[in-house]
Amino acid sequence: MSGALLITGGTVIDPAAGVHERRDLLIRDGLVAAVAPPGDLDAGGAEELDAAGCWIVPGLIDMHVHLREPGYEYKETIASGARAAAAGGFTAVACMANTNPVNDCAAVTQSILERARALNLVRVYPIGAVSVGLRGQQLAEIGELREAGVVALSDDGQPVMDGSLMRRALEYASMFGLPVIAHAEDRNLAGGGVMNEGAVSLRLGLAGAPAAAESAMVARDLALAEQTGGRLHVAHVSTAGAVELIRAAKARGINVTAEAAPHHFTLTEAAVADYNTNAKMNPPLRTETDVAAVREGIRDATLEVIATDHAPHHRDEKECEFDAALNGIIGLETALPLALRLLGEAQVTIDTLVRALSVNPARILAVAGGSLAVGQPADVTVIDPKRRWRVETDKLLSKSRNTPFGGWDMVGQAVATIVGGRTVFRAAANERRKKSA
Ligand SMILES: [Zn+2]
Repeated sequence: MSGALLITGGTVIDPAAGVHERRDLLIRDGLVAAVAPPGDLDAGGAEELDAAGCWIVPGLIDMHVHLREPGYEYKETIASGARAAAAGGFTAVACMANTNPVNDCAAVTQSILERARALNLVRVYPIGAVSVGLRGQQLAEIGELREAGVVALSDDGQPVMDGSLMRRALEYASMFGLPVIAHAEDRNLAGGGVMNEGAVSLRLGLAGAPAAAESAMVARDLALAEQTGGRLHVAHVSTAGAVELIRAAKARGINVTAEAAPHHFTLTEAAVADYNTNAKMNPPLRTETDVAAVREGIRDATLEVIATDHAPHHRDEKECEFDAALNGIIGLETALPLALRLLGEAQVTIDTLVRALSVNPARILAVAGGSLAVGQPADVTVIDPKRRWRVETDKLLSKSRNTPFGGWDMVGQAVATIVGGRTVFRAAANERRKKSA
């Protein structure tokens, strides 16, 4: 069992408890034991962590990752994904069902949970499939999945094209208290689009997917959420149109939450310009107008979650012609600094970011975390907001290398990640000195 840990000298930012001030934090027996003004707590033999100049926040929770195990261990494993998560400041991740076999039954859910438990690093929450085999024809055994421990349902990677199936998914899922996470894309409208449809796709001669492929599906799913009263969560929102629809739906009281991915609030379709396959994802990178709308959606909490859509792929699946390359990029180790850029560039407050990266995912998935109140599990991320570092692709802990952010200079990084009172990641001290010098 873990010993006691006293984190001193930092600023505790805990929006759930309304705390944003200099505080020391004492962890004992895996729980938050005390939060008190600087110097008030007696270490009493506890290990000390000097967090001077740092933010101490409830552990970050990424509710949208692809861990690739079982079936695609050559891209990522639960172990490599969990190590990347810890290094990125995440104390918990929720993993999508598009593994092989698909997580559409209790046996797969249980094996993921068993592996994560044996690993004992970050918390791993499986997401079950909406439909058997992600084929969009027959509902998965939702009760069985719930019993086995899934925290949500999603066919992510594939839209649920059949509206009546989506309707029943929302109805059944709400009976079991689960949200349905929508990959909102009208596949017919998207056609064979491999990037955003617009001036850039025209110039490059690549097939484009129109923004309406997303907003049309969001509109359908919102109508179904209204009809059923089910809990809809819209994944990776990328278009101004979808942001506006979700904002209006919330104003009308529809039970919907939504997320944005760091690449969608950082990059535009211009990143595809030289046929860069590390800028190929689904939904695709959009226009400056869309990026501005996604940022505004985060600022006003229309998009109340930031999630990475961490999607590892092998080199061979990306180093090929653009049309043939697989969709997606890794994101666990770059999400936090990219989110922190919004502080300066988009008038987003740090409290809003902590809500988006911890409080809200915990609430939506109904899992531990999201608060540093006394008695809560000690899932804590210590962030040095001034730490400068360069993304060196070869040094990332994910098994895959497909990031468009290689070589980027970042500001801000997790320097300690603590799960249930146990430190699962610690930035090297000498490296800290060197880089902050
Ligand atoms: Zn995804």
